[in-house]
Amino acid sequence: MSAVAMETTGETIAPGLIQIDTGYLRAAHTAAYLVIEDGHAAIIDTGVGHSVPRILSCLAGNGIDRGAVDWVIPSHVHLDHAGGAGGLMAALPNARLGVHPSGEPHMVDPTRLESGVRALYGDAFFDREYAPLTPVPPTRITALDDGETVVLGGRRLQVIHTPGHAWHQLSLFDEASSVLIAGDAFGASYPGYGEGDRPFLVPVVPPPQFDPDAYRATLARIRTLQPRRVAPAHFPIIDAPLAAADRLQAMLEAAVEWSADAQTPDELQQWLVEGWAQWLPADCEQRAFERDFDLDLWLTAEGLWHWRRKQQRQAAR
Ligand SMILES: [Zn+2]
Repeated sequence: MSAVAMETTGETIAPGLIQIDTGYLRAAHTAAYLVIEDGHAAIIDTGVGHSVPRILSCLAGNGIDRGAVDWVIPSHVHLDHAGGAGGLMAALPNARLGVHPSGEPHMVDPTRLESGVRALYGDAFFDREYAPLTPVPPTRITALDDGETVVLGGRRLQVIHTPGHAWHQLSLFDEASSVLIAGDAFGASYPGYGEGDRPFLVPVVPPPQFDPDAYRATLARIRTLQPRRVAPAHFPIIDAPLAAADRLQAMLEAAVEWSADAQTPDELQQWLVEGWAQWLPADCEQRAFERDFDLDLWLTAEGLWHWRRKQQRQAAR
């Protein structure tokens, strides 16, 4: 599919399920999903504020009126997934914002979210990639509990809370296609790192809410659910979720172990680069991996470091 076509219609991955490239950072880095059924639509994940025109153009490209969008559902409130929520809601008169209950206050008042993200990424990055954050009126928000079902036309999307990457993470299981729209609950990858049933996924675990036990429980739950495919926010579709879950878990366990011995976050990041390279597909170089997964490796080293220090502080009490 050509780049132009990608921008106007997205990539159909199942009937009524479309992957949209939000354009965040670079092509094929962060996706949003559009579900269409009986003239109704839902948008899962929003990208950043700059992604809003792309998503609206994808709606138009699929013949969907803005008034026909019933739901906007960020998988969690990290800004590459929810940064565009306020802008989208302003453009979609009939949409409700569905969000994890712990994420809801941050959508109404993004001030704390903004200061946390500025502290982590720095002001220059925030101003370039994320500013400004638009609040969503509380009357337009619905908190989505675990086990709820969002019904779109006749199509059922099961809400599954999938903590580990963040507490406020949820995923949606599309019963019609047996695709789990996972957000960041099931790793991240990019085109060129293995394809089809063997994508190279990295368990990205940023600060401050990474929780390895919750991450393991989420992987176990996804295994039990047995989706036919997984559609992560970053980026290739996963055709063999069970094998992918095994590799994600092995990589996570290794990283948790390394985090006990590393002396600095930088050292831990280097160990992730070198250690995770054993899972790289044969035709992928470690140096390219280090470059293309740069932000993920840094975030994960910080997330593991932050979690490990918290464990040590609690043990010392
Ligand atoms: Zn995230």
